[in-house]
Amino acid sequence: MQTLNHHIAGNAVASERTLEVLNPATAEPVRCVAMADTGTVQHAIEAAREAQPAWRDTPPARRAQVMYRFKTLLERDADEICALVSEEHGKVLEDAMGELKRGIENVEYACGVPELLKGEYSHNAGPGIDTWSNHQPLGIVAGITPFNFPAMVPLWMYPMALACGNAFILKPSEQAPSAAVKMAELLDEAGLPEGLFSVVHGDREAVDALIEAPEVRALSFVGSTPVARKIYEGGTRQGKRVQALGGAKNHAVVLPDADLDNAASTLIGAAYGSAGERCMAISVAVCVGDETADALVERLAGQARELRIGPGTEKGLDMGALINAGQRDKVAGYIEQGATAGAELVVDGRTHPLVDSSPGYFLGATLFDRVTPEMSIYRDEIFGPVLCVVRVETFEEAIALINAHQYGNGTCVFTRDGEAGRRFSDAIEVGMVGINVPLPVPVAFHSFGGWKDSLFGDLHAYGPDAVRFYTRRKSVSQRWPKRSAQESAQFSFPS
Ligand code: NAD
Repeated sequence: MQTLNHHIAGNAVASERTLEVLNPATAEPVRCVAMADTGTVQHAIEAAREAQPAWRDTPPARRAQVMYRFKTLLERDADEICALVSEEHGKVLEDAMGELKRGIENVEYACGVPELLKGEYSHNAGPGIDTWSNHQPLGIVAGITPFNFPAMVPLWMYPMALACGNAFILKPSEQAPSAAVKMAELLDEAGLPEGLFSVVHGDREAVDALIEAPEVRALSFVGSTPVARKIYEGGTRQGKRVQALGGAKNHAVVLPDADLDNAASTLIGAAYGSAGERCMAISVAVCVGDETADALVERLAGQARELRIGPGTEKGLDMGALINAGQRDKVAGYIEQGATAGAELVVDGRTHPLVDSSPGYFLGATLFDRVTPEMSIYRDEIFGPVLCVVRVETFEEAIALINAHQYGNGTCVFTRDGEAGRRFSDAIEVGMVGINVPLPVPVAFHSFGGWKDSLFGDLHAYGPDAVRFYTRRKSVSQRWPKRSAQESAQFSFPS
């Protein structure tokens, strides 16, 4: 079987240890992936250390030219990249294309880096003194990414990090590693100097090496909350800058005045798209009033039963397989827990015909009604195609419920009442809010990030925060006194 190697300084680098990468739709191995040890990580660091000083001194406009070419190449090879994503992740091809397009937005944003790095200038900040501030790159930075967006999440990180003048080491998910290497080859083709971008595959061993390496100045992480917390604590202990984005439990509030047909059909996509394996997936619908809940559940149930499920590489499907057997079994276990705890199991994904007939990791859509806050299906991130309906009596109760939850990634409200929408966006303790927008993922010129246990660190991912995260601010003051001027010593603080 073919082995996917690390990509360091433009070369394929092997490791003794390898891992099988499975196609979730067939449960068959499609290739092996090399698994890095500390030596492999050090190899990538050395390549980065050699290349970064010249890149730092390369004018931002020239660095941006690489990004313009990279964007064109990503578009040229989009079908190939999406086929790899779908084969290894299981998501349907149209969804893979959606994630790639949202990723390319970040390359477009990075093309504007000369403007973003301009800094600030004050002429005559004091008598004959000019002051300016600019952004300088950190040096070598690294990114560690999850399985669920093999193309988009890495693109949240490295286009801006590179455009800002850094070298970047990517440790993609070992479960869906191929898109990262394909994109590294495209960066080479776009003319990025050798050594500035490396892909190092692996697991905890590679990540721990990145945390420990003093040469790595910053870590961007996206993945589950326990690992995010570990990376944040470990990285900051080493004096690194860290942004660590974690898990989620995203609520949609449905008010009695909402357009229920529209709310139901958009919720179906937001809950079950990508088999619920999205950090912005809606996994809880909070209905205000029993009448709203009854009407919504009826609409959701009909559509959830009709979802077209199958191998992601087939056209015209709504949902593919889950990433692996462990995740499929974990989700099935939560369905059992919910039913046992007394939630009403309206649609049971375990009864979908593919569950028994296919060797792949399939589950149908599951819908629970009358879920209560102490149930594990409400508290935990399930990360699968399971939507829970919680019934409350008032809008304020809905807000309090969401604010009490451990996670605060995304949320939305369905209403026709502008005042309610405004109140919701003000009062809710969640980082990304939609008003009649179920997946409020910010566009590339805004930044992405949750609150509470959904993000550890100060700065959000991509957009304007990426400039702040991947650079250091420097302020410079200068004056040019006349040669003849005699200056006496001053001992009081200059004012
Ligand atoms: P994960 O935390 O298991 O893995 C993420 C990365 O960390 C992978 O590269 C993995 O190799 C590495 N890793 C895993 N265990 C580690 C350990 N003990 N020490 C060091 N590194 C380790 O996450 P996943 O299963 O790949 O992805 C799903 C999770 O990611 C979900 O919780 C989802 O909500 C979250 N996610 C969050 C966002 C966001 O923006 N907040 C976006 C996408 C996914």
